[in-house]
Amino acid sequence: MAQSVTLCFIDELNDFLKPPSRGRDFTVSFPEPRSLKDLIESVGVPHTEAGSVFVNGSMADMESLTVDGDMIRVCPQRDKYLIAPRFIADVHLGRLARRLRLLGLDCLFNPALDDAGIAAIGALEGRIVLTRDRRLLMRRAVTHGIFIRSGSAGEQIREVTLRVETDGFIAPLTRCPVCNGRISGTGRESVIDKVPPKTYAYYSDFSTCGECGKVYWRGAHWTRLEKMIASDVCPSNSGIFL
Ligand SMILES: [Zn+2]
Repeated sequence: MAQSVTLCFIDELNDFLKPPSRGRDFTVSFPEPRSLKDLIESVGVPHTEAGSVFVNGSMADMESLTVDGDMIRVCPQRDKYLIAPRFIADVHLGRLARRLRLLGLDCLFNPALDDAGIAAIGALEGRIVLTRDRRLLMRRAVTHGIFIRSGSAGEQIREVTLRVETDGFIAPLTRCPVCNGRISGTGRESVIDKVPPKTYAYYSDFSTCGECGKVYWRGAHWTRLEKMIASDVCPSNSGIFL
């Protein structure tokens, strides 16, 4: 039997709606009962971005079915995910992936993966999908995901840490920003043929990536890197390393 329900989205969820539906109640009609998740996504809002849903004033489960005449109010997701902060980023978020890795957080990034591949790996490995593509978040395989709004990597880091508990997991400069492998200290002699002679002569501490073999040392870029990491960890920090 055909149904009509009234929907109202709160705050930033309105960004996902067509302009005529933003900031007001609007009615949608459909031929058969459907889950709240399907209904909410049918108007453009990924289920990962929706938090509490109220039907006729009572909190409801996303899988519950609509009833004709329902008044449905959808709040933004403001709770943090309580799973380990491991990520997979889409093709548009390479800079964010590098910044997360610099903080020591595990973030896969492979531009060759399509949406289905990202969703599948996210589900298989329990990774939070980071994307600027809402259609990716609407895939059923995606249980944990964050729609990234900003184009600035610094702001993107804050969008992630608002939704995911990273305290206790941040370990700056322990993960390779290039490949996501672990980096660790290595004997100076082992890098003698892998770094320029002047670098070898000037620096004593070197680290290598266990995956790609890239060699790291505290070169001229180090202070800038430390400041960037400090501001990611604590935005009010003016550049004092941890
Ligand atoms: Zn590496």
